[in-house]
Amino acid sequence: MEKEKAMKTEIKPPNVIDICKKANMSVEDVNAFLNLLKRSTEPFLKRISVIENGIMRYYTVERRGIGILKTEHGKFWQYSFAIDDRWEKYSVIVKAELDKNLLIPVFNSKDKLVLRTDSGCETGQVFGDLTCECHDQFHLALKTLEEIGEGMLINIPHQDGREMGLTFKLATLWIQDVLEINTVESATLLAPSGVIDIRTYSGVICILKFFGISKTCRINLVTNNPKKARVFAENGYTIADYTPIVIKPNKHTEAHLKAKQDYLGHKGLIKKGD
Ligand SMILES: [Zn+2]
Repeated sequence: MEKEKAMKTEIKPPNVIDICKKANMSVEDVNAFLNLLKRSTEPFLKRISVIENGIMRYYTVERRGIGILKTEHGKFWQYSFAIDDRWEKYSVIVKAELDKNLLIPVFNSKDKLVLRTDSGCETGQVFGDLTCECHDQFHLALKTLEEIGEGMLINIPHQDGREMGLTFKLATLWIQDVLEINTVESATLLAPSGVIDIRTYSGVICILKFFGISKTCRINLVTNNPKKARVFAENGYTIADYTPIVIKPNKHTEAHLKAKQDYLGHKGLIKKGD
């Protein structure tokens, strides 16, 4: 008990007057902003229906927070969502203005949306493993949003390894290292049924609906995997265009990118050498 007490650090908040001077804001504005921040941390729920593979389901979609990301590519909003599907957590990175309550993105062009869906990859995106392209693709997607000026990236952290999970992914990395085979070969060796991609995208549709994206909005999907379009069509959204994410392979990723094109139907993954 004593120990727990000793761990607590209590620091008095800074003086509001000093903050106002520094930020060049009135006390009322700072207080209004702090109230808004508090509201952004309160869960906000919607029940949303989505059709995927011909089956309609209702999901509970909970916005859990909003903040700002300052990246090497620019400044973005990050939303944290919880959805009661298999993936549970969604991080949405948005390049847009927000509404007057600062709770929903408002895109200037109402009839066009650049959208990237990004399956999380702990080994590559978080820890910098060079075997896969996810880290480079994520950064190129953010750079693309910044250059276009608005758009949205929906990251699904638990979709590691085409949703075979982190345990599976770690084993495939090990196999690839020892046997020097590509990502598709290693996955099929571990999953002899041949099913190596069980991702679903209902959560992505939930987020579009949560933000009130109109079905007349023509979506430019930033992807190399045209199979992702199906769930959009099932829910009345139009994929008007595809923008491939083309990265320059390194010596570790070249064989994997080629295998994804040859076996998984992915398109335009590889940037030809300079
Ligand atoms: Zn990866």
